[in-house]
Formats: sequence, C-alpha cells, structure tokens
Amino acid sequence: MTVDRKTIDQLANIPNVAVTECAALSRYTRFGIGGPAAVLAEAGSEEAFAAALQLVQSSGAPYGVIGSGTNLIVSDSGFDGIILRLTAHAIGREGPLIHAQAGAELQALVDYSIEQGLRGLETMTGIPGSVGAAVYGNAGAYGHSINERVQRVRFLDGSSVRAFNAAECRFSYRESIFKRNKNWFVLSVELSLTRADSRELRKTSDEIFQIRLAKYPLDMKCAGSIFKNLILAELPESVRRHIPDRVVREGKAPSAYLLEEVGAKGMRRGGIQVADYHANLIYNSGGGTARELCELIGELKQRVRERFGLDLEEEVQYVGFPIPAGPTP
Ligand SMILES: Cc1cc2nc3c(=O)[nH]c(=O)nc-3n(C[C@H](O)[C@H](O)[C@H](O)COP(=O)(O)OP(=O)(O)OC[C@H]3O[C@@H](n4cnc5c(N)ncnc54)[C@H](O)[C@@H]3O)c2cc1C
Repeated sequence: MTVDRKTIDQLANIPNVAVTECAALSRYTRFGIGGPAAVLAEAGSEEAFAAALQLVQSSGAPYGVIGSGTNLIVSDSGFDGIILRLTAHAIGREGPLIHAQAGAELQALVDYSIEQGLRGLETMTGIPGSVGAAVYGNAGAYGHSINERVQRVRFLDGSSVRAFNAAECRFSYRESIFKRNKNWFVLSVELSLTRADSRELRKTSDEIFQIRLAKYPLDMKCAGSIFKNLILAELPESVRRHIPDRVVREGKAPSAYLLEEVGAKGMRRGGIQVADYHANLIYNSGGGTARELCELIGELKQRVRERFGLDLEEEVQYVGFPIPAGPTP
C-alpha cells in the first residue's frame, strides 16, 4: 500500500476529518462499481479539508477528490492512495446572492433557491451530485448551466485559498478551469439570482423532475450521459453533414444520435447495459464491473470513430485508472 501508517494517523488526528481505511468506493458511486480506496478522508469543514490536502500532498501518496460519486467510474481494483471528500454543506443568502459550500447537494441548493423565491437554478432540478462538482463540470440541463449564475468561486489552489469571478473560471460546455487544473478544489460558490414567485419556480421544477424521473429512475445505477454532446460549429463538415437539423439543440449535436446510428441502444456487456430508450445512457443492471463498463464505452467510441471519423469525449470522470483520461480501447 502506498499510504504509510504515519500519514493515516496524522490524517485521523485532524479535527473534523473522518478516516476510513480500505473504503469500498462502490458505496460512494452511483454506478455501484469500484474497488477500495486505501484511505478515504472525509472533511467536515473547509479548514479540515485544507489541512488534509496539505498533509496528503506532502506525503507523496497518490490522491484524488470526489463529491457524491454520480459522475464517476472507479476501477475494479480501486485506488491505491487517498480519496478526499469535502462534506461541508452550508447554504445561505444575502439578498439575491446565494452562497453554498462545495459539499452541499446541488438539489438542496436548487430547493433552497426555490423556497427563497429566487430564479436561476430551477432548471437544474434533478441533477444529482454536489455543488463543488457542479462548478467543476459546469453542470446544467434544459438550456442552462450553473455558470450563468456564478458570481464568485472560492477554491484551494493546492496551497492557498483564492477566489475567481465567472470569467476567470473559464466556463464552457461541461468545462471549467477547475477541470483543467486537477489540483484546484472548489470550496464554495456564490450565485447571483433574480427574485421571482416561489410557486411558479416550484411548478417549473416539478415538471422537470417528472420528465427526468422517466429517463433516470431514482434507483438507476448510472452517471447520466456518458459522453458529452458535440458543439456543431466545432465539427468538421464531413461529420456535420451526417447530422440532421431536427436533432440539433442549442447548437449541439447529441452524442445519442451518433450512438443510435451505430446501434448502441440495448447493447450489453455483462451486467452493463446501454438503455434501450437512450443511446447515451449506460447503466449497471446488476453485478456490472468497471472493466465491462470501460469495454462497452471503448466499443461505442470505436463504432462512432469508424462510422463518423470522430472521437466522442466522456463526460464521466475516471478514478484509479493508469491514465488520467481513462482507458481507451
Ligand atoms: C441520473 C443522472 C443524471 C444526470 N444528469 C445530469 C445533467 O442533466 N446535467 C449535468 O451536467 N450532469 C448530469 N449528471 C452528472 C452529474 O450529476 C454531475 O456531473 C455532477 O455535477 C457530479 O457531482 P458529484 O458530486 O457526484 O461528483 P463526482 O462524480 O463525485 O465527481 C465528478 C468530478 O468532480 C470532481 N470534484 C468533486 N468535487 C470537487 C470539488 N470540490 N472541487 C473540484 N473538483 C471536484 C471530481 O474530482 C470528479 O472529477 C447526471 C448524473 C446522473 C447519475
């Protein structure tokens, strides 16, 4: 094991840090897949997280940060290092500004904004996961993403706490500066919302929730969309001509369309299955492994590459694989 006893004991001695050795990461991922982390350290405050991160970095042990595990594929052999989680989850407001700590659930933040009669997050109803990861991956749905409301993000750059405004966060579709700097970690976010009628916001939210429920039943072991959609303007003409106008939404070509064209729907590898109603939705139907999941993803990428000459990019993030971008076939 790459984590020495002294580091584990020092981590456990940090106030507000809970340490679990040999923690089954399958219990921390929505796929229900993944071997053990040598050490899982859960920090209940920003100070505890900063102290744990500093210790972990100086120990030289491999480390990673996870949120609620709804967008993760963790290797079957787990992670031979330290996994950190920030669980601080306070949410509050000053006028139309809402602030939330990274460990808060995004849905709790959405519900809070609705209760407070503040518009801007209601279309994100039903997106699972933490606020920190929502900023990291610029989460969004129904034509809106979290970046539209971000005022300020506080983060740890490895050694000190800094703050960026929205422009400095370099948000784009499912991207941010935090995704490109793997040792920067979101601590909290401040969002600027607009006053609105709470009942009207709740109605929008309830409608979206019902639509989402049909697509993603609450007990479905999945990560939402496996692949990012494609920005039409960035595609070469040779690919664009295969994409009919009727499937284009907000300037994006759905990966699901290309996947459907290559026969993805219903494909299966062991316990892992592509939904028969949505080609970009892969789930664990029971007993599936990360190996099967990666093989299926690899097969889908290969089919799309061969047919359309284009590489699909995963939205899902990998933990415990030898190369950061995840396994390619
Ligand atoms: C049923 C379902 C539906 C979904 N629908 C949508 C959707 O409509 N729109 C959408 O955008 N996403 C969707 N997703 C994907 C997922 O909800 C988001 O990616 C979410 O933001 C992940 O949050 P998490 O806390 O679970 O992150 P995790 O899966 O735990 O981690 C994801 C990444 O975030 C990083 N991370 C976690 N916390 C921090 C932090 N504090 N600072 C920096 N990096 C951090 C991790 O290192 C990892 O790389 C869906 C997922 C599921 C299961």
